[in-house]
Amino acid sequence: MKNEYDVIVVGAGPAGSMAARFAAEKGISVLMLEKDRDIGYPVRCGEAVSRAGIEEFVEIDKRWISTEINKFSFISPSNIEVVIPLEEQGYILERKIFDYALAESAAKEGTEIQTRAYVYNLLFDDDKVSGVKVEIAGEKKEIRSKIVIGADGVESRVGRWAGLKTVTDFREMESGTQITASNINVEQDTCYFYFGEDVAPEGYLWIFPKGNNLANIGLGVSGMIGKKNSALSYLNDFMEKKYPDAPVLTRVAGGIPCTVTLEKIVSNGLMLVGDAARQVNPLSGGGIASGMIGGSIAGRIAGEAITSKNLEHIFQYEIDWHNRLGKRHKTFDNIKMEFLILAMINLTILPKQFLKLIWIKDHSVMFLKLL
Ligand SMILES: Cc1cc2nc3c(=O)[nH]c(=O)nc-3n(C[C@H](O)[C@H](O)[C@H](O)COP(=O)(O)OP(=O)(O)OC[C@H]3O[C@@H](n4cnc5c(N)ncnc54)[C@H](O)[C@@H]3O)c2cc1C
Repeated sequence: MKNEYDVIVVGAGPAGSMAARFAAEKGISVLMLEKDRDIGYPVRCGEAVSRAGIEEFVEIDKRWISTEINKFSFISPSNIEVVIPLEEQGYILERKIFDYALAESAAKEGTEIQTRAYVYNLLFDDDKVSGVKVEIAGEKKEIRSKIVIGADGVESRVGRWAGLKTVTDFREMESGTQITASNINVEQDTCYFYFGEDVAPEGYLWIFPKGNNLANIGLGVSGMIGKKNSALSYLNDFMEKKYPDAPVLTRVAGGIPCTVTLEKIVSNGLMLVGDAARQVNPLSGGGIASGMIGGSIAGRIAGEAITSKNLEHIFQYEIDWHNRLGKRHKTFDNIKMEFLILAMINLTILPKQFLKLIWIKDHSVMFLKLL
């Protein structure tokens, strides 16, 4: 490993790998640092994406697909089920393999990757970010770079170290919890969404099939709710009622920032991408595809800034992100509450023909609309 790079990416999730790949494509030197031992593990994700959301960046590969999804099933508080065929296919990924493959694609473009590399602070030249302080397998090191890209996920600290406002209101921070369980006898090409006060207030519960009757079962509830009753207690209640004997293979928990993008995602020498920038779709909580989009834009612009020797160019990232998705996320955020209320009323009292599924192309997103 060198002591200096053009770009350092902190975090090797989908957003980080895309940022590294698109920057490295410009022929500059890129280092990606990941604190965990293995890229893609642990998995804290329902693993659902739309085909369109990922095929912009990768050729679909059966190795990292658990199941192909062709239908959504919505289950109302009063147990009315509405099944809607999808116009466009979705997938439940095997993220352990998917994230790995994305990192591999960054490596193919020349990115150097280091795991077990925990970034614990930034370096500064006056007020410009100029590298990272990192502990690699127990050894502390300072590595300089012209640009740092923070892709360190929902618990990101990189932005804060650079002086950006990264605090998300706890009401907008969904508290997510999920198990992967076996003996879950559901249609293997259908994603199930349960709504209602008893199941997942101000959120939803999902069952995403992973093949062979294995499924990700999880839920997200708003921070408001999570303060009173934990997401885990809702999940336990559901499992006791519905699948009391299902063996549980994994348990994970994590925050999902269902909110608009941070006001500033660029500062002098620093860019934020993915969950770290709050690029999650505020309606669905899906952040894989949108993080990949954010990462790809940031990586491309970082590469252009280095090759044109104009570091000010990185501020263009904020503009391009908002034009591509940020503005749309703002609209989604505005209708989020109204949608939740509408969806619950719809499912409870309206006949099926009044429901319409909107499948937004570059997302693992769905929502119901009154016709
Ligand atoms: C329960 C749950 C279910 C979800 N389900 C879905 C779903 O079905 N579909 C969907 O699209 N989205 C889903 N999401 C959201 C999705 O997982 C995230 O939006 C997505 O992973 C964000 O990608 P990222 O690259 O920004 O961050 P991450 O995937 O979180 O990657 C960040 C990486 O940075 C590393 N890192 C952090 N700090 C440091 C440091 N200091 N130094 C070095 N490395 C560091 C981490 O180890 C991690 O590997 C879910 C989230 C949760 C919690």
